[in-house]
Order: sequence, then structure tokens, then C-alpha cells
Amino acid sequence: MLRQVNGHSSGSDAQGRESLKEDLQEFLGGEAPLHQLDDLTKVNPVTLETVLRCLQARYTEDIFYTNAGCTLVALNPFKPIPQLYAPELMQEYHVAPQPQKLKPHIFTVGEQTYRNVKSRIEPINQSIVVSGESGAGKTWTSRCLMKFYAVVAASPASCENHKVAERIEQRILNSNPVMEAFGNACTLRNNNSSRFGKFIQLQLNRAQQMTGAAVQTYLLEKTRVACQASSERNFHIFYQICKGATEDERLQWSLPEGAAFSWLPNPEKSLEEDCFELTREAMLHLGIDTPTQNNIFKILVGLLHLGNVHFADSEDEAQPCQLMDGTKVSVRTSASLLQLTEDMLLETMQIRTIKAGKQQQVFRKPCSRAECDTRRDCLAKLIYARLFDWLVSVINSSICADSNSWTAFIGLLDVYGFESFPDNSLEQLCINYANEKLQQHFVAHYLRAQQEEYAVEGLEWSFVNYQDNQSCLDLLEGSPISICSLINEECRLNRPSSAAQLQTRIESALAGKPCLGHNKLSREPSFVVVHFAGPVRYHTESLVEKNKDPVPPELTGLLQQSQDPLLMMLFPANSEEKTQEELSGQSRALALTVVSKFKASLEQLLQVLHSTTPHYIRCIKPNSQSQPQSFIQEEVLSQLEACGLVETIHISAAGFPIRVSHQNFVERYKLLRGLRPRTSSGPWGLCSARKSSEGPCGQLEQPLCAKEATLQPILQDILRALPAL
Ligand code: ATP
Ligand code: MG
Repeated sequence: MLRQVNGHSSGSDAQGRESLKEDLQEFLGGEAPLHQLDDLTKVNPVTLETVLRCLQARYTEDIFYTNAGCTLVALNPFKPIPQLYAPELMQEYHVAPQPQKLKPHIFTVGEQTYRNVKSRIEPINQSIVVSGESGAGKTWTSRCLMKFYAVVAASPASCENHKVAERIEQRILNSNPVMEAFGNACTLRNNNSSRFGKFIQLQLNRAQQMTGAAVQTYLLEKTRVACQASSERNFHIFYQICKGATEDERLQWSLPEGAAFSWLPNPEKSLEEDCFELTREAMLHLGIDTPTQNNIFKILVGLLHLGNVHFADSEDEAQPCQLMDGTKVSVRTSASLLQLTEDMLLETMQIRTIKAGKQQQVFRKPCSRAECDTRRDCLAKLIYARLFDWLVSVINSSICADSNSWTAFIGLLDVYGFESFPDNSLEQLCINYANEKLQQHFVAHYLRAQQEEYAVEGLEWSFVNYQDNQSCLDLLEGSPISICSLINEECRLNRPSSAAQLQTRIESALAGKPCLGHNKLSREPSFVVVHFAGPVRYHTESLVEKNKDPVPPELTGLLQQSQDPLLMMLFPANSEEKTQEELSGQSRALALTVVSKFKASLEQLLQVLHSTTPHYIRCIKPNSQSQPQSFIQEEVLSQLEACGLVETIHISAAGFPIRVSHQNFVERYKLLRGLRPRTSSGPWGLCSARKSSEGPCGQLEQPLCAKEATLQPILQDILRALPAL
């Protein structure tokens, strides 16, 4: 954002001179050591190297926040620094006349955003987009901002309202541990990695108090329930239950101490000391009572037992696969916890029913071992995803304010950053697609808006070439043909298509598109997309299947027969599924593909973002080992490149770093009337873009605009001349 300089009352001339001097000195920056540069627009010249050096110098001095024009860069300290997030500091930023003059901090962004709501300049609603790669600190930052608003936007302490306000603020904060328990997991890159995207709207009333909140989640990585990469773990909640259940609960849930579960790898990592208690408490605050909680946990243990069900290859194709030795008991336990009949549970995994012919005759076909495994996993994913969505809706009903009790919101967006692995699939395609959309939003809202504003104001300005990612978005989602449409088309046609065929279709239908990369090196079927953050190779193997995300109707049918009260609610008989089943196969396939659903939710999100004034925080991970005091240049460099930070700084630096209203400008600088330049050939010009004929500014010789380079000697002149005024 352009720095807004508030108006100053005229005061005495001496005071005026002093504060003007401060302004100018700050603007000129002087010969400050690198770590003292609070704004990356002041490094000279602005290159990746200088920006990197400045960030490193600050990191070494334990300075973790730096402005980069309109963006705040947040380096992850990887160590607790309580004083950096103390309530007293929150207050300091909150009451400061000009918080942007304090050290860069997420509280500056928080406060600025809060004041924007107060000033009721359109658009009143605000959003803070927190981005960065896995482990960079997005969730931490969002959490801190929520705590900030819980402090600064709380109701006054003494009034009766306070109890209510405290409850709502506390409840909103309590949504974090619950959502993290169910939606976060330990991955190779982050011990507490969010496996879903989150947008939370903090709702404020006219008095600027937080009256509620609403959470929207995106694309939970549900496959993790049944499949974890080596050295990674399942969602935290499973480990919390296994570690924290009481003796009684262990008996009820068939969960003996030290039980081994296939879907619970790396339990020794021991990350959840007392977390189960905290999760339960937070759930209680959100209105999820103990019996309901126990119901949830019982179902989750049921899933763990389901994961211990293993099938053996069948020697006779006409016969169902048999269970591996010793796993019958797992079927029994799982069925009992999910309140299903054991036979039905087993049969649903073993046998597929096919309806065919005009009479819709039902055929029963035994599944192969691999198919049995897929159906087992699918069952678990189905239950977990439904449970997660339900939990989010319960949280929402607990924290959401009546629509007439709030007038504005501040949205916090914490989404997965750009991803590029050796093996990328549909998940990465969706995540990177989301990042392209957000980058476009950033470009549109800031870079383009700023340049266009200069043009409208008639400023002399050479346009900075920024990387517009429209061509990449055209490739991903454009019409009539794009990568998304081709993948959806394969699902719609419902024909067995090989990975190689999909690759060929993409390469031939989209040949010549600028962002379709060269695909020479890979032996496996794949395609390359050149994203704004770099090229990514996506493997086409199982892409179509993942996009279909098929749920065999027998599985839903099975769950609709459960006697468990929660499952009965999550899978009501005669529900939507039936109607969908009745839809024609084609439209159903298209409407429900992962890509189409994701695209629709993303479009909704962007609509909301477009209706707000956006603010940006870029989190940077200084090293991939999550170690304090370690700044690995190459790793930071690639993140700086990935978020296009240098371009942003260039635009901010080349642009006018200070924006003053015409009125304030005159108030502030009228002192300089009559002062003549020594170094510049023409008259002085500062930054108001108005013509001199428009009002009191005419008292200055002829205000015009100057870029930073020409402004520097002029300002130095003024500084020298100040004492004489
Ligand atoms: P993901 O995309 O995987 O969810 P993320 O960007 O949300 O990653 P976080 O979970 O917020 O990353 O941060 C990772 C870890 O880094 C935290 O668990 C915490 O230990 C540490 N961390 C992040 N920010 C800070 C901070 N400001 N101060 C201290 N530690 C921090
Ligand atoms: Mg996170």
C-alpha cells in the first residue's frame, strides 16, 4: 500500500520544522546499515541479491518483519519470542497515532486494516492474504492476527456485554485448536502443516467490536486418512485420541494402550503431549458437548480399526477376496464402533454391485484385492471428509453473528502456498491454480491499480513491466479448452483413458500456448505448466480418477444404514446422494469433479476478496530444517522469486512512496513557500498530482511530481535549508 501520511495540525513553526525534518530524513534513509532498513524499497539498487542481503542482515539481528512496499515480509524465527506478540505490544500498535511509523509488524497490518474499517472508505471490508510455502508461518501469522483483533476489538472490560464479547472472542480463538487437530498433520516440511485452506471473516459491528466470525475451508487433503507418505503422519486428532484417551474410553473404544494401527505411522514423534485435553476443551467452548465429542472419537477409532483390515489375493476370480489372517477382528471392531453390521461392512468392501440393462438388473461382482483396498480407503475418506465439513458447520453456527449485528468484516486468508515436488498430481494442480488466481488478484489490485492510478492522475511514469499471469490462467482454466476442461472432459466421457492418452490430448489441444512447458525429460506421462512461480511437471497417472473422486453408491448406502447417531446425521437415508444418483451419469460426473468444485469455491473466494481492500503478508521460511538462527540464502532466494517480491518492490520503489491528500500536503509543506532550489534546475515538485491552479497549492511555485531519483537532491536541499526558515 502506498504509505498514507496523516494530516498534521499546523502547530508552531519550530514543531513543524522538526517533524518535517524527521519526515525527510526518514524518506532519504541516509546511510543506515542494512538491518536498519525497515522497507525493502529503500535498498539500493533493488535486486534479488540486495533484498536477500537486507533480509539476512535483519534476520541475524532478530528482526523478522520488513515492509516491501505494499507487502509485509515475515521471516519465520522458528523460536518462541513471547515479547513480540505480547498484548502490551498489540496495544502499542493499536494506540499509536501512526502505527506505520513503528517497527514493521503484523500488528501494523492488523491495525491499519482495523482503521480502514473505521474510516469507512469503500470498500469497507478488508482482507489480509497470508501466503508462503509450507512451514513459512501462515497459520501462525493468522492465529496472531486473530489474537490481535480479540484484544483490540474486544468490548470494554466493565460493561455487561463483556461476558458475551469474551465468550465470542474466546470461541473464535477456540476454533483454531479444533480445526488444527482435525485438519493439520505432521509432514516432511512442517510438524503442524494445514492440510486445508482457510478463509475466516472476523465480523465487526459499528462500534468496531468483534461480534462473530465465519470460516470457509478449501480442499481438505482427505487421502491422508488412509494414506500417508513415508515419515509423514495422519491428522493430529488420531494421535491425540490414542495418547490421551482415559482407561474407560479405551475400553469403550477398543483402544488398548500401545495398539498399533496401519494408518497411524510414526506415533513415536510424540507431538501431542496434552493436546487431546486442549482439543476437547476447545470443542466444549464451541458447544460440542462431551457425548457428541465421544461419538466423534469413537467413529475415528472405528476408522483406525478399518485401516487394519487387509485382504489377500483371491485365487478364484469368481470368489471374493478373503481377509488376511488376524484381520477379521478389525472388521468386527470397526463395524461395532461405526454401528454397522459386520457382514455388510465386509461385503461392501469385497463385492461390487452393477446395475445394467433396461430393467436395471443388479449384478454382483467380487472385487480384486486392489479394489477392496480402494473401497476400504474410500469409506474412511468419505466419513472423515463429511465429519470435517460438519465440524466446520458446527463451529460456524457457534461463532457466526446474526447478519444484523455486524456491518463489516476483516477476512484472513491462510492457504497453501505454491507447491512443486518431484511427483505432482491433482492436489498440486489445484493448489497452484489457486496460487495463480491469488497472484492475479494481487497484480490486479495492487500493481495494475497503482500504475493505472498514476496514468489517470497524469503523472509522468514509465510503466513497469510486471509479470501478468493471465496466459497461465488461460492455459489452466480458459475457454473453450484448458487443462481443467480437458481433465473434466475425460471424466465426462467416462471412458478408460490411459495416462499417456491424457498427456497427448493436452499436448495437442493446447499446443503453442505460452505457459505449456516443454515436456522432454520425463519418461512418465506428464505435462509441464510454467507457473508465475516456476515450471511444475504434473504426472497424468491417476489424474482423471482423482478428479472423479468416485464414491461407489454401495458405500454411501452402507453408511446410511448405520445406527450411530452421528453417522445417521452425516449420511441421512434418502438424502441428496440418491437424487444425484438419479441424475444422468454425464452431468453428475461433470458437476462433481474435484476440479469443478474447487474452481467454483475459488471463484466465490475471489469474489469476496475483490469486494475488500486487500493487504498482503508474505511468509518466508529461512531454512527447510525449521531451525532458529539459520538463514539459507538459496532457499530464501527461491521463495522471493516464487512470490515475485522484487517486482513488487520495484513498483513501490519506482512509484511514489508517500501519498498525501492535497489539503494535508499544503498544511505540511507551506513552510517551504518561497524557498528556491539550489541543485535542481526547475522548480520543486513534491508529490501532489493536482494542478497548481486548484486551490492553495498555487502558493507553491508550481507543484509537479518527481520520482525518487530526482526527489533525493531536492529533499537534501530542503533539509539543509530548514534551520534558516
Ligand atoms: P503449512 O502450509 O504447512 O500449513 P504454515 O505456513 O501454515 O505451513 P505454520 O504452521 O504457521 O506454517 O508455521 C510452522 C512453524 O513455524 C510453527 O509451528 C512454529 O513452530 C513456527 N513459527 C511460525 N511463525 C512463527 C513465529 N512468528 N514465531 C515463532 N515460531 C513461528
Ligand atoms: Mg498452516
